[in-house]
Amino acid sequence: MTQVPVADGIFTWPSAEPQLIGSQCGECGIVTFPSQDSCPRCASTAMAEHLLARRGTLWAWTTQDFPPPSPPYAGAGGKAFEPFGVGYVELPGEVKVETRLTTADPNELTPGIDMELVIVPFRTDDEGNEVVTFAFRPAGEAS
Ligand SMILES: [Zn+2]
Repeated sequence: MTQVPVADGIFTWPSAEPQLIGSQCGECGIVTFPSQDSCPRCASTAMAEHLLARRGTLWAWTTQDFPPPSPPYAGAGGKAFEPFGVGYVELPGEVKVETRLTTADPNELTPGIDMELVIVPFRTDDEGNEVVTFAFRPAGEAS
């Protein structure tokens, strides 16, 4: 099965150690994710690609217990839907990333724990490709 990223320019793929693709302002140094053409802080257009750290800490999270509105949500709906965790992972010195989490188990998720970027299957498209997206998992979790 061919794996294709859910969107171009979100993360490096294929890669043994994928990284999220953000941007950094050449004027004030702020880091954004996703990448932006102009700086949200100083409005400079001197934005350069910036690959983000693969590890961070869990800042806040919740559980998505029902399918989000579609579009933009393009994952499984109806009975095929499985609840998943969503949250913010703070990458040190970079940015807080809004992300899917690999678990929605409160016993595994505590603010401040180490989190690691992973690429996970998301859905199968009409051509039979496996669409993959990014998520963060607790860094101590077995793969
Ligand atoms: Zn700026």
